[in-house]
Amino acid sequence: MCLFCDIIEGKIPSTKVYEDEKVLCFRDINPAAPTHVLVVPKKHYDDILDVASSEDGAETLAAVANGIAKVAEIENLGTGFRVINNCGEDGGQTVKHVHFHVIGGVKLTEKII
Ligand code: AMP
Ligand code: ZN
Repeated sequence: MCLFCDIIEGKIPSTKVYEDEKVLCFRDINPAAPTHVLVVPKKHYDDILDVASSEDGAETLAAVANGIAKVAEIENLGTGFRVINNCGEDGGQTVKHVHFHVIGGVKLTEKII
């Protein structure tokens, strides 16, 4: 069982922002900013390393980039936003289905790098 697979299949509700054939973008249940949307490939990959080692990884990343752009447009993030991917235990990944946090709607100051 994977939480995000269940959300993608509609077994668990989510607040959808954008969807196409390859990605589902929905609001994070515990938002860190006025806009906090998760961009999630519909195909299950454990993490970004799993994407990288998959034959269709490049195609998936292109779909993710397009999903990020669509979310930025829909959420009016024209003045900027941040994209975060947590990978693995030390990276703070809690859901083992690769996803990208799109965070914005406020001037972001807490920079790690
Ligand atoms: P990460 O810690 O990078 O794995 O991110 C997982 C994110 O999923 C967290 O920011 C959670 O708040 C979010 N999350 C967990 N369950 C749900 C849910 N049912 N719907 C939306 N977001 C969720
Ligand atoms: Zn999954």
